[in-house]
Amino acid sequence: MALVVQKYGGSSVADGEKIKNVARRVVEAREKGDEVVVVASAMGDTTDELIRLARQVSPEPQERELDALLSTGEIVSSTLLAMALANLGYKAVSLSGAQAGIETDASHSRARILRIEPKRVVEELERGNIVIVAGFQGITQDMDITTLGRGGSDTTAVALAASLKAKVCQIYTDVEGVYTADPRLVPEARRLEEIAYEEMLELATYGAKVMHARAVELGEVYNMPILVASSFSDKPGTIIHGGVSMEVRNRVRGIAHDVDVAKITVVAVPDRPGIASAIFEPLAKANISVDTIVQNASINNITDLTFTVARGDLDKAMSLAKPVAKSVGARECVSDSTLAKVSIIGTGMQHTPGYAATMFRVLYEQGINIQLITTTEIRITCIIAEDRVGDAVRALHKAFELEQAGM
Ligand code: ASP
Ligand code: MG
Repeated sequence: MALVVQKYGGSSVADGEKIKNVARRVVEAREKGDEVVVVASAMGDTTDELIRLARQVSPEPQERELDALLSTGEIVSSTLLAMALANLGYKAVSLSGAQAGIETDASHSRARILRIEPKRVVEELERGNIVIVAGFQGITQDMDITTLGRGGSDTTAVALAASLKAKVCQIYTDVEGVYTADPRLVPEARRLEEIAYEEMLELATYGAKVMHARAVELGEVYNMPILVASSFSDKPGTIIHGGVSMEVRNRVRGIAHDVDVAKITVVAVPDRPGIASAIFEPLAKANISVDTIVQNASINNITDLTFTVARGDLDKAMSLAKPVAKSVGARECVSDSTLAKVSIIGTGMQHTPGYAATMFRVLYEQGINIQLITTTEIRITCIIAEDRVGDAVRALHKAFELEQAGM
């Protein structure tokens, strides 16, 4: 018997009826002759509501207690799913992350999985049970409950699939797969039948909300095929894997956008060794992730240093950067939080000239000013004004002919 890991997102288990729908789908998978392990997210907006409750009783809840609180959301959905399965006449057992043997480090609210000891999961499967594991959570060596960061149930699912040597990890959600662009911005956007791990990782990191980037990364490391599909239909979804065929690779695969962008510029800093390190070290210590970094060519040993952070980190980043800027003799530190990133992504862009030129021309024709540019071998990102992001994504989607099927 092969093993399948299925993960259901919060919108797929948002109420009792939806949980019953999921139970029927799990039964279908089981009836195909596979062993099934299910990972459940918290129902609907439960996690947000729990966070709100915590803030209501304390402006700064202890992170240990907050993690224990948030972990209960996934306990609710996984126990209910086990009950729904039993009601359909199937043996099912729910397990918390800790019971499933998911051991993490102690970084509360963003813990990393260190190892999985899935002994109990395997025993329950051997007893003929469908096993439901509460997503998004683990336990430290000191037996404290942790959570894996927002959207972390995807990571639970892929990690469990890898440790149980499943044949596939299926991520069920409320959209029908991975699209060439956000269908809310681009009505012509098309579902991709397949996509390579590295492309999906860039899409997820640069704004596509459909999957947690960390889960894609794990999938690539363990070469675990990941299916993204809807829990509300029987459409085929998108398969994320390593072996995308050559023809398919030879083009832009998708366009991602992200409006969670703020820019900080340290103006007129002296161009000498140690300045960048002086500015970025405190940000790193404060766990602020810095994205695009651009340092201008200097004139008379004076330069500008620009970088971007998530909007939620802007105030903190400014409060850390300002004193450093002053102490190293910069003129000032300025910020802008009305920006967005738009990225074209595809392994086919490697070693193929022309993609950047096309992207810049398309934006120019739309009268969109590019503020910053970054590239990797398979991605080109432009930072533009937030209010032009829809126009940019639509024009790029058209220019790269992403509405056309095939190739
Ligand atoms: N319930 C958690 C969240 O909303 C984890 C997840 O849904 O994957 O972030
Ligand atoms: Mg959720």
